[in-house]
Amino acid sequence: MSANPGDIESLRRALSRLETSTGALTRAYAALTAEAARLSTELEESHRFLSGVMESLPCAVVVTGARGAVELVNAEARELGADDAALVRAAAAELSGRPGGARLLRAVGGRTLSLAVRPAPGGRTIMTAEDVTELERLRAGARRAERLAGAGGLAAAMAHEIRNPLGGMEIFISLLRRELADDADTLAMLGHVASGAQAINHVITNVLMFTGEPRPAFERFDARRLLREIFEFAHGIFEKNRVAPRLAPPEGPLFVHADPGMVRQVILNMIHNAVAAQPEGGFFEASVTQTGGRVEFRFADGGPGVGADIRERIFDPFFTTKDSGAGLGLSIVNQIARAHGGFADLVDSAGPGAVFVFSIPSRGE
Ligand code: ADP
Repeated sequence: MSANPGDIESLRRALSRLETSTGALTRAYAALTAEAARLSTELEESHRFLSGVMESLPCAVVVTGARGAVELVNAEARELGADDAALVRAAAAELSGRPGGARLLRAVGGRTLSLAVRPAPGGRTIMTAEDVTELERLRAGARRAERLAGAGGLAAAMAHEIRNPLGGMEIFISLLRRELADDADTLAMLGHVASGAQAINHVITNVLMFTGEPRPAFERFDARRLLREIFEFAHGIFEKNRVAPRLAPPEGPLFVHADPGMVRQVILNMIHNAVAAQPEGGFFEASVTQTGGRVEFRFADGGPGVGADIRERIFDPFFTTKDSGAGLGLSIVNQIARAHGGFADLVDSAGPGAVFVFSIPSRGE
């Protein structure tokens, strides 16, 4: 059986059409493959770009999928330990129903994080977290300072209130002293009352000086005479504690320009510290000299001195090693020195014991 020439012809045409279509299909496939490659490169690029943006964000970002598994995390989130699906879940639960933009504070690995949660397409959740540890520390400090300032005002008001009746007590004590001049036993008891009143007065003056801004009222006075007067005033404290007061030479008047009330408080603070440092008794030696445009008070005692471990801190407010100390004495000495344009310091001494200097400009004496 021979083939019909008409059939052969139509077969040939069909084959040729098939070839043409195959060619077109191959070309279309090649074009599609190229397009797919281009899109995939583009996708990779935008993925890299997005990761770059995510990684360089200063806040932590965590994205979880619809089932709650973590899908995306940036470097900051890994560093802060916030790359945790449970944390995102808990934050989302707590913030749900709250207005958009609401944030939540959470302690994570010793840091304080401020968290925000937002829904994203595909049932995803985006959590952002900022490290606000330092900010929160500063806020807590500011709140503490506010409370302290309030307490300072209260302390100052109380100190003023206590000072008035105390002044009255001191006057009556001195009147009683005269009345009881020949009753030695009662006088001795009165001495204890008087030194108690002095101690209260001393603490109150420290509180008032600490809470107020020290503004010296400068006047010219004999510093050596002031030292002698204070030694006389504090003789009860010295006697009771078996601490021998010594005025180191040179003698004779030395006129200075300063606030005598403040200098008096400096000397009293030094006396109180020297007495406290020598519970078995000892000595307190004070001198005042003028050299090179400066007036320098030196205070020495025979106590154990100040250990190297606390030297740096003794002038800090509230630093104390005493059970009932307020830690205000030396900080006030320092404050007064500065208010006079001078300084206070602990100086090394050859022997045991502490030696302090209080040095102020001599202001043309
Ligand atoms: P406070 O007397 O209430 O403790 P201060 O500011 O006057 O406060 O003193 C701070 C600390 O410095 C004292 O607790 C003590 O440890 C130390 N210090 C001060 N003066 C002396 C001293 N003369 N000898 C030894 N230590 C001292």
